[in-house]
Amino acid sequence: QSKKSGKNTSNFFAQSMQDALIKRFQLIKDMHIACAEEQFVLYYQPIFEIKTGQIHKAEALIRWKHPDGYLINPADFISIAEETGMILEIGEWIVHEAIKTVSQWRRMYNERFQISVNISPVQFHQKNGSMPEWIKVLTSDAFAKDSVVVEITESVMLEDSAIVWERLKLLEDAKIEISLDDFGTGYSSLSYLKNHPYQYLKIDQSFVKQLEINLSDQILCKMIIDIAHQLNMLVIAEGVETQYHRDILQEMKCDYLQGYAISKPLPADEFVKRFFNSEE
Ligand code: C2E
Ligand code: MG
Ligand code: MG
Ligand code: MG
Repeated sequence: QSKKSGKNTSNFFAQSMQDALIKRFQLIKDMHIACAEEQFVLYYQPIFEIKTGQIHKAEALIRWKHPDGYLINPADFISIAEETGMILEIGEWIVHEAIKTVSQWRRMYNERFQISVNISPVQFHQKNGSMPEWIKVLTSDAFAKDSVVVEITESVMLEDSAIVWERLKLLEDAKIEISLDDFGTGYSSLSYLKNHPYQYLKIDQSFVKQLEINLSDQILCKMIIDIAHQLNMLVIAEGVETQYHRDILQEMKCDYLQGYAISKPLPADEFVKRFFNSEE
């Protein structure tokens, strides 16, 4: 009896492992199709400037519109896209799409609008060619230079520092603004702020979430904002969900707020309707 159930258990594990593999394989196959058939879309989340009370920036966040009708979040496919290298192709599409959107919005609604784009460490470290395609596009497009902001995380700095600094320098020389995303998480080290080329520092939402009840989060947020300002960076707080968050971050002299308290990420047409007072 016990022997039999033991066997069933191992069958169960073998079966679920096989299921997971099949699911992964199917996902990779679907992602190739998604690339070819342009099933990806960019959503845009406003970044609110406290000083002026205006919105001149948004972050582009990818979604996958599966043909079966549902929307897949980046958490469920970006890491597999990174492991398989597919992020290179998707990442180029993202940059082109963001440039298309921001040039239209600048032309029609706000001539100083900026869209920030998340660049994966895999895209950043891409070794074939001295310059990855996305950097070529950004640095050669006179228009893109001040309308696209590049968002990178600290994990970009973990590998192959010669290439990393070379590429950061390319962006810096081209006067492309850079934002340090998810600051304070992962392999955070203050040494990344030495001789930094970033214009913006984004405080990770994990520091913002419990600002109401957690005194050490309050101290850390205030400290991050002060250090960033002394190093000539502007600060964007992520995950701003409540009026309390807005008030306390404003009091701490944070520069920009991003989060559900302002708006969730929206498809381009909805963003236009809500934030450019347009009838479109
Ligand atoms: P991220 O760049 O730090 O983006 C912020 C994430 O926080 C977004 O999740 C956004 O929807 C979410 N968020 C915004 N406001 C709030 C809030 O008030 N509360 C909470 N709880 N969450 C909020 P999303 O869109 O699911 O993206 C997750 C991550 O996936 C991004 O983190 C980024 O690392 C990655 N990602 C998204 N789009 C792209 C892309 O186009 N390319 C690459 N390489 N990565 C992307
Ligand atoms: Mg980001
Ligand atoms: Mg972030
Ligand atoms: Mg994040």
